[in-house]
Amino acid sequence: MTRSAASAVTVAVVGGGVNGLAAARALALRGARVTLFEQFRIGHSRGSSHGAARITRTSYHDPHYARFAADAMAEDWPALERDAGEPLLTPTPGLFFGPRGGSVDAYVLAAAAAGSPVDEVGVPEARRMFPQFRFGEDPRILVDRSAGVLAADAAVAALARLAAAAGAEIREEWPVSSIAADVGGVVVASPRGDARADRVVVAAGAWIGRLVPELAPSFAVARQTVVYAEPSGDRDAWRVPRFPVWVWTGRDEHEHFYGLPEHRHAGIKAARHATGPGSDDPDDPAPPDSPAPPHGPAPLNDGRAVAEVMEFLGRELASPPARVLATERCLYTNTRTQDFALGALPGDPRIVIGAACSGHAFKFAPRTGRVLADFALDGRSAAWPRAALLPE
Ligand SMILES: Cc1cc2nc3c(=O)[nH]c(=O)nc-3n(C[C@H](O)[C@H](O)[C@H](O)COP(=O)(O)OP(=O)(O)OC[C@H]3O[C@@H](n4cnc5c(N)ncnc54)[C@H](O)[C@@H]3O)c2cc1C
Repeated sequence: MTRSAASAVTVAVVGGGVNGLAAARALALRGARVTLFEQFRIGHSRGSSHGAARITRTSYHDPHYARFAADAMAEDWPALERDAGEPLLTPTPGLFFGPRGGSVDAYVLAAAAAGSPVDEVGVPEARRMFPQFRFGEDPRILVDRSAGVLAADAAVAALARLAAAAGAEIREEWPVSSIAADVGGVVVASPRGDARADRVVVAAGAWIGRLVPELAPSFAVARQTVVYAEPSGDRDAWRVPRFPVWVWTGRDEHEHFYGLPEHRHAGIKAARHATGPGSDDPDDPAPPDSPAPPHGPAPLNDGRAVAEVMEFLGRELASPPARVLATERCLYTNTRTQDFALGALPGDPRIVIGAACSGHAFKFAPRTGRVLADFALDGRSAAWPRAALLPE
């Protein structure tokens, strides 16, 4: 669609997380008249996009995502950094390791198939590169030379600023209660007042099933507990570029831990990547993050999750972290295959679904935003050539 044609199109975007904001910016840059509705304040910590940092990488077990990541890192993040006037992506090595015969093998194969810039290294070389890790029990080890750390909170703030600068109206604390299509367009209902638009992009994260009930069975919400741990010894050894972003993959597909250097937050970040069964209630008011008192353990609410992470770090790091500095809660919206649902709602192309998460969508966000704008204005996207909204 041309810019002049787009200028006649009104688009409602529901959700002010990284995906919704990226979509609002992309739509406004293409000339559409955009209103974004967010139930909380932009930058809040109740969803999936908050926190200091996120991992980016191109080594993926699916060549489609490997290409999508590579394109986002080559084009969209540099463009966003330029427009925002600040660095958002800091390169640092990516480390993927795990027991032979486990899911790391799939990584090795797919990364090779996708031509990702990764090298398989032996334990002696890995210990030379990353002396912070033990690499006990002869794991398989991949080093991703395209990886890095994304400044998450800063990226969300930049996208909000740039979307508004491009002409998008951002309505905060504006909860949407329902979305209904009729002959004249789409009605976005809210206790604060209804709005009508020609198209709607639903980027509601963990709340997607509430607004589009027919999709609810395809998504499961999993609350994540993130630990910021105080590293021991030379602090610079735990920062970019000496400390990698890392993912440990176990024997079972649900057994993953990951971590990031100390970056824009005190402490190295680590967590389990929880994609298991069951669904948490996104509205369950999780207790606020509780930074540790000066001495002693943090008053943590989900001690088991934190203990698991600290035990894992104690096992894999050459010098275990001294203590927990802080914890953070965050939501994954998982699909069965960890695929994203990007595209028109079957039966009504005026409703565009922007459900990208399963704990790995941040790295694609500025490109996902363009894909959602394409679907809203052109009905298709060359950057997301998938037939079905969700794979069977
Ligand atoms: C702990 C953790 C670690 C992660 N690590 C990585 C990583 O290293 N690399 C990576 O690439 N990805 C990572 N991710 C995934 C990534 O952060 C998410 O996939 C991404 O942030 C999802 O963004 P979103 O905009 O879809 O969701 P959200 O940020 O949750 O945005 C959805 C928004 O919609 C709003 N909303 C919902 N319903 C309504 C309504 N009815 N009315 C108005 N507003 C509404 C919500 O309030 C929310 O702000 C991680 C996620 C978590 C939780």
